[in-house]
Amino acid sequence: MDVKLSERLAQLPPYLFADLRRKIAAARAAGVDVITLGIGDPDYPTPDPVIEELCRAVDDQGDPNRHRYGCDAAAPEFPAAVRSFYKRRWGVQLGDDQVVCTMGSKDAIAKMGMAIMDPGDVGIIPEPGYPTYNISHVFAGATSYRVGLRPEKDWLFDFDEVPAEVADKARILWLNYPNNPTCATASLEFFEKAAAFGRAHNILIAHDSAYSENTYDGYKAPSILQVPGADEVAVEFFSLSKAFNMTGWRAGCVVGNASAVRALSLVKDNIDNGTLRAVQLAAAKALDRAEEIIPPICEVYKRRRDLVVDTLNANGWSIEKPKSTIYIWAPVPDGYEGKSGDYAADLLEKAGVVVTPGRGYGETGEGFFRISLTYPDNVLKEALDRMIGVCK
Ligand SMILES: *Cc1c(COP(=O)(O)O)cnc(C)c1O
Repeated sequence: MDVKLSERLAQLPPYLFADLRRKIAAARAAGVDVITLGIGDPDYPTPDPVIEELCRAVDDQGDPNRHRYGCDAAAPEFPAAVRSFYKRRWGVQLGDDQVVCTMGSKDAIAKMGMAIMDPGDVGIIPEPGYPTYNISHVFAGATSYRVGLRPEKDWLFDFDEVPAEVADKARILWLNYPNNPTCATASLEFFEKAAAFGRAHNILIAHDSAYSENTYDGYKAPSILQVPGADEVAVEFFSLSKAFNMTGWRAGCVVGNASAVRALSLVKDNIDNGTLRAVQLAAAKALDRAEEIIPPICEVYKRRRDLVVDTLNANGWSIEKPKSTIYIWAPVPDGYEGKSGDYAADLLEKAGVVVTPGRGYGETGEGFFRISLTYPDNVLKEALDRMIGVCK
């Protein structure tokens, strides 16, 4: 039998990267030597101290709980490491009830809707943006109100674009700076505005901070929780995935507003049973050693960022070097009328190179495409050579 998809699942837009994966597979099957620059999944391995701690913990004969459900064998080291990291990194003091460790941010984002939204509720999402914010709403039976980010506003969310009736009804507003896919960064003043907006309209501000540690040229990304009193209205989703080359480990945390942290914890208690104790201990180790582990990771992306931007700029583009993220967000070259899907299709067909069309992240992403820097330098070089051949 063919099961019928639930209405909630059926109503989701096709998963952006699933579509991309299918196209790549088809091209490869047709004999094309495909280079993909599409997906943001670090190629460098997880740093040694983290791997060593995982191995030690998973093999620790003196720990009778090391195989058990992560929620029952919770390692207090992990939330303690989160608190210490937030204190060292941002001067933010988190209470015991203000931290929940998660199985990465995507999982936590998806569960957040279920925690605080009911059918008929509205959440506000930025576009272009990470697709999971909308998915979180849809799985809760709620809907999304989209606000377009635009280059002329430096891709910063404009709170004045939210109509009063939406602002008064909305339960949650998602922000993400440093931003995927646009590479935009936000100042602490921006987060002050965000917190004020949340307070004025009784909306939970959910800040996705997945790239706060992937920064270059001395830039340090702020936390929304640095805004005094922000924890009355805001939570921050921090992830070890991009900061520590730990995407597969599924480790992150949600911090800030205690009632939102509690609500999310309740959903988690009912669904996931937590992550392996050894992973929790290794994640704690990563955070404890952040100051030593992160700079060499950033060096790699900075080198690749310079390679990609310098090459594109020598060939007709004029892109500013992003201060953060592991992406380059660039305008579609002349001749495609700004149609990012057409450009991406052409690149795959004529050059065997996969980039992500901006349209896939929402209407206002149209006209741009995204390159991920999570590929070796020689692969990036080869791909750029081929790309430049196509648009001339
Ligand atoms: C990668 C990413 C995440 C999620 O990462 P996890 O591996 O699930 O922690 C969240 N938000 C954005 C914007 C991302 O790009």
